[in-house]
Amino acid sequence: MELERIFDDLRALVEDPSFPAVRRWLEANPQGKVVGHFQVFFPEEVAHAAGLLPVKIAGAGGTVQVRQADARIAAFVCSIVRSSLELALSGRLDFLSLMVVPNICDAARNGCGVWVRSFPQMRVETLYHPHNASSAHAVDYLVGEYRRIGRVIEELSGRPITEDALRASIALFNENRRLLREVYRIKRESPWLLSAVESYLLVRSAGLMPREEHNVLLRRVLELLPQRPAKKQDRIRVVFEGGFCEQPPLDMLAVIQNACYIVDDDLMIGLRWITEDVPLDGDPWRNLADSYLNRSSYSPVQRDPRKPKAEMLLRRIREAGAEAAIVAAAKMCEPGLEEQVHYSRALDGAGIPHLVMEFEETMTVFEQVGMEVETFAESLLFQFA
Ligand code: SF4
Repeated sequence: MELERIFDDLRALVEDPSFPAVRRWLEANPQGKVVGHFQVFFPEEVAHAAGLLPVKIAGAGGTVQVRQADARIAAFVCSIVRSSLELALSGRLDFLSLMVVPNICDAARNGCGVWVRSFPQMRVETLYHPHNASSAHAVDYLVGEYRRIGRVIEELSGRPITEDALRASIALFNENRRLLREVYRIKRESPWLLSAVESYLLVRSAGLMPREEHNVLLRRVLELLPQRPAKKQDRIRVVFEGGFCEQPPLDMLAVIQNACYIVDDDLMIGLRWITEDVPLDGDPWRNLADSYLNRSSYSPVQRDPRKPKAEMLLRRIREAGAEAAIVAAAKMCEPGLEEQVHYSRALDGAGIPHLVMEFEETMTVFEQVGMEVETFAESLLFQFA
């Protein structure tokens, strides 16, 4: 079956720490350069417009044992920061010409300093998003920041980022975001057609291959999905929250999907951060910055009083037609754990059943998670029956 083959290939790609799609692109483009960017949000269009390949560095899951990174970063720091560094220290990211780390939290900020010291041959930059996203100056400030990173990229590529090239890249990424929104529409409307693991693979792979290829892949999957001979089952519908930065293991999602339909989530939210098309008219730098601030989702690492996160979670649950939520947080993730408390309180207030859990990308045993989710789902099935 073509769909099953596509998902098998995507799983192999996502679980291969040697970044095979990037290496294939470099074979086809021997002079090409690659820009790595750490979670959560980076305007990939800027790198693409200069002819570079943007690649999302989102940790290694359980595919690489963290050895060398432990000598440079304390063990109480979240796993994604340590395993991303391990990927680089073990030579698996030897293709990077530039690494950009958004200033999302203390762990990422300090991790960026370790990258600077560890890889003198690699350019490493922090991307400073505005601290006060609701300030009247936030868009101007962010335009300046995107242009600063753009100048670094121009130096590397040896070619200027023209406004026309940037607009063409925005159009390509708009199309990718539109297709991903379509994937999520199917998840909400017919979750039996697309499992949580499969939809995750579709999103995650966007950051690991050229976006042109990913768009072709998504179009084909969206064509095939409605023909899938899958039947609706009697399962509760939940929203999974807590996957904005460090990613839960695929097998954990598989355990959850055995008991419930995950009809929406914040997994890899950076790839779906911008929720509408970025306008193509006018100044493309400003349009990108404005879209990051004003046409965007929410996460524990963006402070914007106009986006009350707990209310936005309640809205996500309502719009997905979900009956319950799983509010997860990565171990040692301060922003995620802090927000988990607020989410939980808001869900209690709204009378929405929810399960609170922690995870780590390196987890390998899921019996406990499985039992908790099954008990939670069964109790709700009786309640809603
Ligand atoms: S998982 Fe949490 S603590 Fe770690 S880098 Fe991401 S936001 Fe920061």
